[in-house]
Amino acid sequence: MKKKLLLLSLASLTAGAALAEYPDKPVTIVVPFAAGGPTDKVARDLAESLRKPLGATIVIENVGGAGGTLGATKVAKAAPDGYTVLLHHIGMATSPALYRNLQYKTLDDFEYLGMVNEVPMTLIGKPGLPANSYPELVKWLEANKGKINLANAGLGAASHLCGLLFQSALKIDMTTVPYKGTGPAMTDLMGGQVDLMCDQTTNTTSQIEGGKVKAYAVTTTKRLTTPALAKLPTLDEMGMKGFNVSIWHGVYAPKNTPKAVLDKISTALRTAIRDPEFIKRQEALGAVVVTDGRVNGAEHKKFVEAEINKWGPVIKAAGQYAD
Ligand code: ASP
Repeated sequence: MKKKLLLLSLASLTAGAALAEYPDKPVTIVVPFAAGGPTDKVARDLAESLRKPLGATIVIENVGGAGGTLGATKVAKAAPDGYTVLLHHIGMATSPALYRNLQYKTLDDFEYLGMVNEVPMTLIGKPGLPANSYPELVKWLEANKGKINLANAGLGAASHLCGLLFQSALKIDMTTVPYKGTGPAMTDLMGGQVDLMCDQTTNTTSQIEGGKVKAYAVTTTKRLTTPALAKLPTLDEMGMKGFNVSIWHGVYAPKNTPKAVLDKISTALRTAIRDPEFIKRQEALGAVVVTDGRVNGAEHKKFVEAEINKWGPVIKAAGQYAD
């Protein structure tokens, strides 16, 4: 009898240990934009290098719409078990100022797991646009006021922020056309259905290289070194003094995910972003992998808080918000 009891408790102990073993099923990374866009590309690249250190199959789920806030809401409300995480960009910091009814609290409803990379943006135009340089583009914009369409991925997206700053610096209003991500927006831009877009180099480099779109400028204060982008002037050089938009990405889990699980994910994440293959893939697209303290959750959170404080007043000054 005693032996039987001992065997039974041993069996339940083993079952408990197996249950507690994380991860024992696929981990979903929610990308809050459509497939084929820049955030999706970063996530798919990251998944390649994260699979092994995490010891799990990784599934990418695209939840596009409302500038990334739908995907972020989904993760904020997901079970805090480490099987649903979010890869998001600067939109984590811009959406609190843009959405009056955001369904989550950016700083309270997530566990911060670490940052991944920083990506510059490029100002690009449809192939048929007559302007062949930034000064020619400005002339064309002046001459076509009221008729210009600017694609973006919705309020709170990086493309929205860049377009907003660009329009207010030039004092030219454009009609914005929102998409679920700049992947589908790029298709329309290449097809000439929209005129302009500002998007991450992770989405634009190969289209610029292939001559599928026109490229006018970069949004960082330093010129880029990626061969296809090196000849582009910065907007700062072109007279928009101080124009500096660099898009960072980070990884988040729902609040109250167990610490052991968070530690496992962030350790695997740090290993993944040090993978020379990941670094090479990112650099080829103009992105720089984060190597400083922001690879840790606490520094990542501090940085996002600083970004909320940086962009909030800029966005409010531009008078933009949504319900
Ligand atoms: N990152 C893009 C943006 O913010 C959207 C996307 O990834 O599709 O505009």
